[in-house]
Amino acid sequence: MDEKILVTRSSMPPYEEYIEAIKPLWDTHWITNMGMYHKQLEEQLKEYLDVSELSLMVNGHMALELAIQAFDFPEGAEVITTPFTFISTTHAIVRNRLKPVFCDIKISDGTIDESKIEALITEKTVAIIPVHVYGNVCNIEEIQKIADKYNLKVIYDAAHAFGVKYRGKGIGSYGDASIFSFHATKVFNTVEGGAVTFSDHAMYKKLYDLKNFGIRGEELVVDVGANAKMNEFCAIMGLCNLKHINETLQARKICYEYYLEQFQNIKGIELFHKNASATCNYAYFPIIIGDEFSLTRNQLYDYLKKNNINCRKYFYPITADAACFNNCYEKQKLDNARAIAGKVLVVPMYADLSLLDIKNICDIIKTAN
Ligand SMILES: *Cc1c(COP(=O)(O)O)cnc(C)c1O
Repeated sequence: MDEKILVTRSSMPPYEEYIEAIKPLWDTHWITNMGMYHKQLEEQLKEYLDVSELSLMVNGHMALELAIQAFDFPEGAEVITTPFTFISTTHAIVRNRLKPVFCDIKISDGTIDESKIEALITEKTVAIIPVHVYGNVCNIEEIQKIADKYNLKVIYDAAHAFGVKYRGKGIGSYGDASIFSFHATKVFNTVEGGAVTFSDHAMYKKLYDLKNFGIRGEELVVDVGANAKMNEFCAIMGLCNLKHINETLQARKICYEYYLEQFQNIKGIELFHKNASATCNYAYFPIIIGDEFSLTRNQLYDYLKKNNINCRKYFYPITADAACFNNCYEKQKLDNARAIAGKVLVVPMYADLSLLDIKNICDIIKTAN
């Protein structure tokens, strides 16, 4: 390919639309601290995501850190989670001084293996933090059953699941809380941004305190909060992008379906199973390089890179094996997660990727085989 293709490309509204939308900021000079666009975006996202409560955040990582902090778990308590995710999920647990206990994943869709959760529960367990990885929905019913039986909180990392509906309801309405990421590389972006969704109204105030230093009044600080407020430029980017979200998803759908068609004819390429009760947001296109393919995942990654196509090994290594943890989790049985992490490759996927580019990418993969 002549031009370098990256794994993703940020969706942006027409330039004039954004410029027009930010003009009022020069009248008010109110550019952050829960301004009117922050409020507007919270309202519109509640509606779009089909959730009853939502708190906007500066990014997805802080959304998760503060969602966890909001539950006031005792220091050193254990959280059962998946290692097959972006490092943010694990960091948010560790940075809250909690202990991640990794549970293996299912080969079929990459989500946490609910049948292995119960064996990991101890008297120190306080929560389960699963991830709807690539927008693949976890086994919500089974996870909730276990949580109810042992009185655990469930916080979903739904960073990949923007707009996904499960059994007719917004994905963010399940569990005690869910977090979303609006990073530039995600399906919907506010440049950087994120949100926590939940149903307990009292949590709104708690999260408001946590994202604004715990400040309630000029002379009153009620909590040891961070600074995780979304500013007005980002909120306006979100409002503009949300206007075009249906076009964005439709364009992604066309790419997604074309990939599906192409990969059907390539021996040795396997795909994750999709839950029939969930809608798809076409966020990523992960492929698994099976034994029948003539190259390994790493060889295919290099081969594509030489041909100007930058794929990503999402998610390799698994978070439990990150260098910062000094191999302290190496004995945990995570065979499926490590196996999939060694075989997965995410191919380019974004709204204005052309079908010709997809055809070329798939042809290069075919010639590699
Ligand atoms: C992107 C992402 C995050 C973090 O979101 P940011 O907005 O980049 O801070 C957390 N978890 C997962 C699974 C992600 O992909």
